Amino acid sequence: MNYCCDNFKRWVQSAGVRGFSAVAQSDCGYRFFCLQARGCDKQDEPKMKNIPKGLDIPNPLTIAMQVGIQYCPFCGTQLATFIAEAGDEFQVLADANRPLLIDP
Ligand SMILES: [Zn+2]
Repeated sequence: MNYCCDNFKRWVQSAGVRGFSAVAQSDCGYRFFCLQARGCDKQDEPKMKNIPKGLDIPNPLTIAMQVGIQYCPFCGTQLATFIAEAGDEFQVLADANRPLLIDP
């Protein structure tokens, strides 16, 4: 897939990793990217269940959040442009990213 800039490409490659990332989503005929922020890697989420009871932590604790985006936060390119050009390649990415999406 041809990305608008190297920074956005790095975010796409960082999907599921702690920090900011861009996650491809295809839902109900719409194809778009979500800006996702994670407090820990996706693979480490089950460890959050091991936090000892009685600790004074925010409850509920948000460890990941996302929001749909239309433009690259780095260069301002309208993302729909290269999503359309990517065709099936975007769908493959969206299918691979599906386990990373956060339920509303
Ligand atoms: Zn960009």
